[in-house]
Amino acid sequence: MANRRLTDKQQRQIERNAEKRRASSLLGEGEDLEGIIIARFSKAAIVMDEHHDVFRCHLRPNLAHLVAGDRVLWQKNEQGAVVSTQLERRSEIKRPDVRGQLKAVAANVDLIVIVIAPEPEPFGNLIDRYLVAAYLEGIETIIALNKSDQVASNPACKALLMRYKAIGYTVIETGPDEQSTCTLRNLLGDQTAVFVGQSGVGKSSIINRLIPDQNLRVGALSESVLKGKHTTTTTEVFRRPEGGLIIDSPGIREFGLQHVAAKDVAPGFKDFQPFIDQCKYRDCRHLVEQGCAVLSALAAGKLSHERYDSFVNIVNDIADNSH
Ligand code: ZN
Repeated sequence: MANRRLTDKQQRQIERNAEKRRASSLLGEGEDLEGIIIARFSKAAIVMDEHHDVFRCHLRPNLAHLVAGDRVLWQKNEQGAVVSTQLERRSEIKRPDVRGQLKAVAANVDLIVIVIAPEPEPFGNLIDRYLVAAYLEGIETIIALNKSDQVASNPACKALLMRYKAIGYTVIETGPDEQSTCTLRNLLGDQTAVFVGQSGVGKSSIINRLIPDQNLRVGALSESVLKGKHTTTTTEVFRRPEGGLIIDSPGIREFGLQHVAAKDVAPGFKDFQPFIDQCKYRDCRHLVEQGCAVLSALAAGKLSHERYDSFVNIVNDIADNSH
């Protein structure tokens, strides 16, 4: 699990800010306020404060990498408002930018909802990739079978969902009925969530059902803060009536395993975890090694061949990419 404490550097920064604050209070300037980045532009950002009010803020030049979901300290002053400090992230969703450099696209996400549907055909391997990536960031997951009213058209998708339930993952069926939306709402609680999955599974319709009030689309609020200025941000942040946020963008939906080492894949398979420490060799890859407890469990029928084949597929992909 990610460390939630401030780093020494951030602690020193906060102390410096406190000193500045003591000095500036004589001049009547603003105090440090805590906020969340809702939208990020090249030299400015929209920050939401604890009362859910949004403000356009300038950014100090050292804050180059702020993304939606980042927690920050900011101050109001005579010229407007300025973000001064980025607080430590408890999780990151990363993906490569146009130059192939791995960059965070969202911060402080608590929960990833992996959405599948009867159509398009769901793939266990894609679900497994999301599960591994989420595990390595310390982010909880829910697997949601959406369009549950259409399951009869593809009963295999229900069987797939049940396979993950049997392993111990949290699963849910969602559809147009109010009851399933209510169940999902309770599972989300006041956490910050993102929705991932293939295009066409209905991620946007789930978000619309969870947040029917368009006024809670904080992106719309930030447009009004920008007074009609054209913005190019594609990340949208929604505030849920119960508390918590939903962060959505095409980049987040493509969250994957670009940064993962082959040896870190197996721990992301919940059903492999009881066996991994029993392998004869500490650096066991669980592929062909003598005395591999994962392979023994597979042979004894304690692990499913679908999951094991999916594991091998992911490890091979990473090995191919690392050349
Ligand atoms: Zn092994």
